[in-house]
This record gives sequence, C-alpha cells and structure tokens, in this order.
Amino acid sequence: MAKIVDTPMMVQYHEIKAQYPDAFVFYRLGDFYELFEDDAILGAKILELTLTARNKNSENPVPMAGIPHHAAQNYIDILVDQGHKVAIVEQMEDPAVAKGMVKRDVVQLITPGTKMLGGAGADKENNYLAALRPNGNDLAMAYIDLSTGELKATTIGNFNDVIDELSSLEVKEVVLRKDDELTIKHQVANQLGERGLVISWQSDVTANATVSFLTQPLTSIAETETTAMLLNYIFDTQRRNLDHIVPATSYERLTYLKFNQDTRSNLDLIENTRTKKRAGSLLGLIDETKTAMGGRLLKQWLLKPLREQQEIEKRLDLVQAFQNDFFTRGALQDDLKSVYDLERLAARAAMGTMNARELVQLKKSLLAIPSIKTTLSATEGVLYDAGDKLDSMVDLAGLIDEAIVDDPPVSVREGNIINDGFDEKIDTYRRVLTDNQKWLAQLETDERKVTGISSLKVGYNKNFGYFIEVTKANINKLEPDRYERRQTLTNAERFVTPELKAHERLIIEAQAKRTEREYELFVTIRERLKANISRIQKLARLVARLDVLASLADVADNRRFVRPTFTSHNMIAISQGRHPVVEALLGSGEFVANDVMLDEDNAMQLITGPNMAGKSTYMRELALIVILAQMGSFVPAEQAELPIFDQIFTRIGANDDIAMGQSTFMVEMAEANLALREATAHSLILFDELGRGTATYDGMALAQAIIEFLDAHIHAKTLFSTHYHELTALADRHDSITNVHVGAVEDDNGELHFLHQIQEGPADKSYGIHVAALAGLPRELINNATTILSHLESDDVVTDHQLVQQSVTSEKHDESQQVELFNVDAVDSETEKVLEHLDKLDILNMTPV
Ligand code: ADP
Repeated sequence: MAKIVDTPMMVQYHEIKAQYPDAFVFYRLGDFYELFEDDAILGAKILELTLTARNKNSENPVPMAGIPHHAAQNYIDILVDQGHKVAIVEQMEDPAVAKGMVKRDVVQLITPGTKMLGGAGADKENNYLAALRPNGNDLAMAYIDLSTGELKATTIGNFNDVIDELSSLEVKEVVLRKDDELTIKHQVANQLGERGLVISWQSDVTANATVSFLTQPLTSIAETETTAMLLNYIFDTQRRNLDHIVPATSYERLTYLKFNQDTRSNLDLIENTRTKKRAGSLLGLIDETKTAMGGRLLKQWLLKPLREQQEIEKRLDLVQAFQNDFFTRGALQDDLKSVYDLERLAARAAMGTMNARELVQLKKSLLAIPSIKTTLSATEGVLYDAGDKLDSMVDLAGLIDEAIVDDPPVSVREGNIINDGFDEKIDTYRRVLTDNQKWLAQLETDERKVTGISSLKVGYNKNFGYFIEVTKANINKLEPDRYERRQTLTNAERFVTPELKAHERLIIEAQAKRTEREYELFVTIRERLKANISRIQKLARLVARLDVLASLADVADNRRFVRPTFTSHNMIAISQGRHPVVEALLGSGEFVANDVMLDEDNAMQLITGPNMAGKSTYMRELALIVILAQMGSFVPAEQAELPIFDQIFTRIGANDDIAMGQSTFMVEMAEANLALREATAHSLILFDELGRGTATYDGMALAQAIIEFLDAHIHAKTLFSTHYHELTALADRHDSITNVHVGAVEDDNGELHFLHQIQEGPADKSYGIHVAALAGLPRELINNATTILSHLESDDVVTDHQLVQQSVTSEKHDESQQVELFNVDAVDSETEKVLEHLDKLDILNMTPV
C-alpha cells in the first residue's frame, strides 16, 4: 500500500491543530473557514453544515465542512455557548503575492470565558473567566471580565467555597496551571469538570511589564501568581491590545454576607428557580436600572451584600436622598437613558474593534454627563457630592462631536466618517470631488451641444469608469478622433475622451486619498480615546453606581420599602414585613404583612401550621429583608431594625420532598450539616421542614436534636418550620425557642381560611381535620373526626412531652404525619373507618381549595 502523504496544506493544518487539540480550528481558505477531519465531522453535526471531503476521489479523502467567513460569528457563538473553544486561523499574507504555501496563524482563541458578549439581553450580564491555584491549604483565585476589563483576586479557604464563588460569578471556564502539582491539579480539574466547567491549561507564565503593572496592587504572592497566570492565558489567546484591563484588586470574601448556591436558588435571588427566568426573582423585581452597567452592578451588589455598616449606610444615604427628591431622580434617569455601555465601549476602543457608530454612541453617552452634573449640582449633600465626582469629559465628547458625522457607516474603511471642516486635507479632497462632479454634469450638456445628439448620456460603470454613451444610430455624428471606444453594447457604444479620463483620474485619486485620510483620522481619534480609557472606566463605575442607587430609590418608592436601621444588639425587630416578590405576584392589598421579633434570648422560632399557610413565605421574607438591607436597599416593611449578619443558611425543601429518596435526604442532611458547622451567633438559619425526608420518628428525632444543638452551641437566629407538632413542646424546655404558627379562621360555613398571619403559640392540633374539611370531605365524617379527636385528647393517650422524650428511641415507624392522634388501641369500627379515610389523605399535597 502506498504511503499516504499529506498535501502541504494539510501539513500546515496539522501543525496548527497540534497546538490547539481541544479547539475547533477554523482554517481560513479564501472566503471560507474550513473545518477538517474530526472537527468537520463533529462541527457539521452541531452546526448543521454539509459534510464534504477534500480529495474526494483519492484513497484518503479528508472530511471537510466550510463556513462563509462573513457568517462565521454565528457559528462561533453556537460552538462557544456549548462549551467549545474555537481557534481562528487567518492567512498572514496576501495569497496573490505569497510564494509557495500562504502563511497562516492563529489570530485568536475564543473560549466560553473570553467570548465577547454582544447580543442584546446579554448586556446586563458579566462574562467571567477565572483562574485557580492551590496555595498550601488555600486556593488563590483570580477572575476577569474581558469585555469590561474588571480584574479581581482573592484567597479562599476551602474548595466548596471556591465552587460557590465560581457559581455566584457564573464562571464557565477556569484556567489551571499546567505544571502545578499533579494530584491537586487533577482533583481540582475533575471536580470542576464534573460541574460542567471548561478547563484550560496555561503552561508559560511570564512577568512582563504589563503583567507587573496589572498585578502590582496585589499583596499576596499566591494571588499575584494566579492573576499573572490568568493574564498570560488572556494575552496568549487574544493576541491584541488589551489596555482596558483594570489593575487587579484583591477582595476578602469575609467582607460580604455569605450564602451559597442553594440559598441563592431557594430564595429566587437572581432567577426564579421554577421558570429559570429573571421575572419572579428578587433581581427581576428590584431592577429599575437604565444602563447595562447599572444592571450588572445591581446584580453584583445583590450577590455580595456588605457587612461593613458604614459602607451600607453610605449607599442607603443616597437611596434616601434620591427617594426624597423625585425631580432629581427623574432627571438623572432621563439622562441615563442616553448612556450606552461605557465599560464595553472603552474595551472596544482598547482592542481596536470600535467602529465609528460606537464612537457616536460614546459621544452621546458623554454628552449626557454635563447634564447629569447640572442636575446633581442643584442639590445638596450626598447627591451634590456624587455629581461633583463626575468627570464631564467635555474634551473627548467635543472631539468626537467635531470630528465624526452623526450617522456614520459601519465600515471604517470606506470614508464618510469625518465631518466637513474638521480636516483641511479632507476638505480639499472633497472640493476636488465636487468640482469634478460638477464638471461631469456639465459635460453632458456640452457634448450634446457639440455633437447635436440629444440622447447622448454621461454615465458611470464600476468596471469601465466614466463614459459617454451614444446610440448606434448616432455614431456617425461623432467626430472620430476625439473619442476613444471603451465598451460596446447591443444598441449603443461607450466612449471616453482624454479630458474625461483626466477628470476620472482626479476623482479616483481624491476618493482614495480621502478614505485613507478619513481612516487615518479615525484611528487617531480612537488612539486618543485609548489614552483616556481609565477616565472613561472611572466615569462608567460612578454612573453605574448612581444608576443602581436611583433604581433602588424607585423600588423603595413604588413598593413602599423603608430604610432599615442597624443595631449592635443582636436583635431583629421587623414590623409588618413583606415578601416583595410574592406581594408583587398577588397584587396590591392581598399580601398579609408579618412582624418578626428575635433577639439573643429568643433566637429561634418554631413555626407550625398546615401546608400552604405561608410558613416558607414568612421564612424567605426574613432572608430577603436581610439581603436587601445589607446590599444597601430599603426593605419591604413598615419598620426594620436588624443586626448585621455574617452568613445565611437555608434548607428549604421542594414540594416533592415527601417522595424523596434516601440520597436526597442525604443532601438535606449535608445542608443542615453545613449550617451546624459554620453558622455563628451572627448568622441566619432557615430550616423548612427539616427531617421530612425520612420516616416520621427518625426525622422527628433528628429535627429535635438539631434544634437542641442550635440552642446549645450556635445561637444563630433561626426560623424552623415543622410538621412535627410534638416539637412545639421544646419551647417549654428551652428559653430561646418560641412557638409561632400561621393563623387560620373558620367562616360561618365551617370552612377554614388561611390568614397568613404569624401568631404566638403552636398551631391548633386539629388543623388536619380543618384541612380535610377544606378539601370537601363529607360533613358527617368531619364531625365524627372532631369527636374522635376530643376523645383522644381527653384520654390523653400520649402527651407531647412523652413523644418528645420517646422520639429518639422509638422503634416505631409510621409514615403518617400526625401519628400521635391515632396512636390508640381501642377504637370502635366506625372510628376506624374514619381514621382509615383520614390516614389516606395526602394532606401535604392538597390545595387549600
Ligand atoms: P407553606 O410553607 O406554609 O406551605 P407557603 O409559604 O409556600 O406555605 O405559602 C403558600 C401560598 O400562600 C403562597 O404561594 C402565597 O400565595 C400564599 N401566601 C403565603 N404567605 C402569604 C401572605 N403573608 N400573604 C398572602 N398570601 C400568602
């Protein structure tokens, strides 16, 4: 068999592919990017391309799929969104003049973490790329948003927290160091891989001047090294100017209120867990920002509420000032509507990808600033100060305004970008052009006169240039020596004259010089911007902040939020608190507000009451109020006094908990464990129906033991909802535990209505019967059940105390939720029937109606 020899092109392809084995290589061939071999086979499938072959008829056809280069972006986006990498290979010399194989090279590697978000909708999202390095027992982490230049670093004590931080930042790709110690490296890579993160490896790390400059503010060596590795990866893959990257800042996770991914989703903070949409989440509710930058900052604040009271108060002062000054807020927000994404515009200026339209966007954005300053300068106090800090940027706005036309084309190479009067040379070329065009217009009239041919035309054609057209019938009227034939049509001939040619040359020359000069000036202006990038970025940050604060004031106004106050006494005093998202869903006046009172001596509430009464709404509401307060927002209540919390832990079961298997119960216990290990007296714990995932006595025993452990060792503020009525007896034995329940009333027809009102004391034991009535069971049956219950209670078959004592050792397993009611031997046959009936009811899955 003949040895198969690669063509020179395939040799070149393989050389490049070997450097990027985990990327789709987009190999530029004329007007197409070609995928070869495995890339072609997989790419054709994902991108729905036609799979063909190079050298089809040879012994060794190469699978191939092509993508027109002008449509490449869509295909790249699809691949990268699915977690793939794409290496763009361009021709590095003009194929027309190249000798031998055209030189080709990778000009950019596009990965999930380096993708530039462009599409609408994505504007309010960051796209972070992270890097990790083990450092003793800790991990150093750095992250960057390439589209805004934000660069941060931190050190995290354990891997779970790293995972949480990555998920909170919605990181899709993590860079690891190739020559880090093997075991750690693989452990980290495996665990990240299991979570669907794309792993990239960086081997060379050089500390050039740019890297030193960008990492210089960092004091930790591990953070510096990790950030340097991240930057090296960025420079290696992007291969273009990245002057917009802001020098790194180090942050301490300890300075923020901490909660994990489960809590974020339990509380529907940034998306509604059920619908996966922003609507129906807290973020969706409070986002009244007018700019993309403001939208991104609001989300960052929500995910990282503060713990430093002074910083929180600074934000609250501004929210209050905006709330009190409707006029200023409105004027500011009107101006903000014309502010584009300054952060991303600055980045595009640095990378040299900014076009003239974006320059005009930048100008419009900058022109809004003096007006914002004027608005704020008419106020006093914090608003005045905020306005005073803004750089009005009149120099840059003025420059763009003077130089660039209002509605430039997308292409920056075809002229029509620069204003008249901005540049003498351009004006001259334009004058030459108009003069010559005038001459052309006159030519037709003159030639008609000279030749006597009234149908004679002067025209222009892309291939032949300017011409004089005469119909065949009139050719004989032309003076032969004066005209030179250029083109023959069916009915006409086209001619040029030496004069016409001369003018044409002038026009072409002037046009070429003008476009060249326009491009030159455009680049000069873009360079001027580049020199001002940090100014623009600083302005962007201040504007984003104002946008968020005004947005919070809007929300406070529209949704009747109040300013929270903070106390150093470890106590919560909320009067008439509300769950803002449920309230918005229900419509005005429908939501029932509740007070929350907890202090050092009463740190825990045990909440009882039937399903659908409002227990978990009440619990979530408290967490949302805490988060809002610490992010610097007003809160949904009539009054709220709060301590500053360090962490929030939640275990809130989904509706299908009842049916959950052993492994899900394991998750439930793991979440409880996290809280028991890490919570402090300054934490907030929400446990909803803990222990529900296992057999009754088993679950009850665990629930009781957990409550007692919290009471003995942790003293965190805790809301604990439970179906185990027996647990309410714990309040008698532990001072710090208070019983509350969600109230219900019976109407004249004996039907039960949930009041959604939190009331003192344990729930009425007979609520099961009420729910049964609510479900429409026969009146006779309900009456009978009521009789049985009172009979059971008077016999005092099993006291709550006994059950509480017994629960830990009891061998008995019963799936019934209210087992104590029926724990009796002697019942008559009718009662037995009723009990059987009641026993079969799936109360937890019943709706109130
Ligand atoms: P539970 O946790 O007790 O099963 P939920 O807190 O899930 O009950 O509340 C069930 C439903 O009751 C909610 O979806 C909401 O429609 C309504 N609800 C809850 N709390 C209130 C309230 N305070 N005011 C008005 N409606 C409420």
